[in-house]
Amino acid sequence: MELKEAVAKATETKELVVETGAIDRVGEVLRRRFAGRGAAIVADENTQAAAGRRIADHLAADGFAPPRTLIFPGRPMLGPDYANVERVREFLREGDEVPIAVGSGTINDLVKRASHELKRPYVVVATAASVDGYTSFGAALVKDGFKQTLACDAPLAVVADTEILRNAPPPMAAAGYADLAAKIASGADWILADALGIDPLHPVGWPMVQEGLRGWLERPSELAAGSPAALGRVFTGLALTGFAMQAMKASRPASGAEHLLSHVWEMQHLTKNGVPVSHGFKVAIGTLGTTALYEILLSIDLPHRDVESHLSSWPSWAEREREVRAAWGGSEQAEQAVIECRAKWVERDELDRRIALLRERWPGLSEKLKGQLIPYGELREMFRAAGVPTAPEEIALTRERAVATIPLAQTMRRRYTILDVLYELGLLKECSERLAASKSYWR
Ligand SMILES: [Zn+2]
Repeated sequence: MELKEAVAKATETKELVVETGAIDRVGEVLRRRFAGRGAAIVADENTQAAAGRRIADHLAADGFAPPRTLIFPGRPMLGPDYANVERVREFLREGDEVPIAVGSGTINDLVKRASHELKRPYVVVATAASVDGYTSFGAALVKDGFKQTLACDAPLAVVADTEILRNAPPPMAAAGYADLAAKIASGADWILADALGIDPLHPVGWPMVQEGLRGWLERPSELAAGSPAALGRVFTGLALTGFAMQAMKASRPASGAEHLLSHVWEMQHLTKNGVPVSHGFKVAIGTLGTTALYEILLSIDLPHRDVESHLSSWPSWAEREREVRAAWGGSEQAEQAVIECRAKWVERDELDRRIALLRERWPGLSEKLKGQLIPYGELREMFRAAGVPTAPEEIALTRERAVATIPLAQTMRRRYTILDVLYELGLLKECSERLAASKSYWR
């Protein structure tokens, strides 16, 4: 899909400027989209130094009133706490300027939500190609002690200067690369859910991400070397993923089983050398894990596999509920997991029908899945070249802990993925054990 066409199909974002020197076009965007209203900049000390100051100077030289600025400290790392949203909101309320978020994940989420509460469209100037959250609706924030996605509109305009992206710490672009590569595995999950009539492929959400995906992931070593072109490719892919989510008001185009694994690790607050492990790096290990599970599943002769004894012991919902609660050991997440599992629970007759359909469609479906996936060894090489971790130990997980996450991740959300297919076929344990015993997967 052409970039122009993708922007036209985005429901909230109207401008996407990704190029070298893009930062000097903020004034142009303000004239075109906001009738030349002035700007209020929200940044932290690092992003202010990287980009905020130059935007302010440029706007002043371009005939705009000097922007008001709210600068958060560079250290400790800014948290996605709702109290910070309130600070941004009160700062913005003192004027009527266009909010400009200068930063990546957290700054963008804070300004996104604060602008939404003030009903004011905003602009983000991205300083790292690190996440697909720039252009997604909703912001991941901690409110009332819980990390949650609060509803809010995506930015009206996104500006990414590849020269600035280049100055961000290299692990940030590597994390963005992994979050983008995850769409290969989550695409396979969507193909599965579509084939079983659970979640049809969306006419906009599917092609917007999948058509360009392999191209955006090309030449990962150039990304690691800081090539503006490679950074631009990854940023564009991440932005378009956000547009696909805008179009569907759902995260299906962006996330599957690999993100469910990462969500479990997110709750465990993994840190390496005292620094929180990035979203993208957790997703990387999740993506390799689900790719491995796909390869194991694809090695099984499903149409002839005997699943009768498994089916005859299919639990009742009451039994299943006890199982889910036990898996979460009375933690707060247990309640949510029960709700999510209930939403995708099927009785025995429905399960029989589903498995019959899967067996019947498997010859064509397995070919489609193979076409979608990147072989594990190849994906691992791409990750290594991009500077992305490939083994659980690199994100402060033991191999045992990583494997033990697989059945938990299946219960996290109602989204139907390979984990559900394996669970419903009675193969989840066997495939996890094969992954654990493997000499190549997660090594
Ligand atoms: Zn993600």
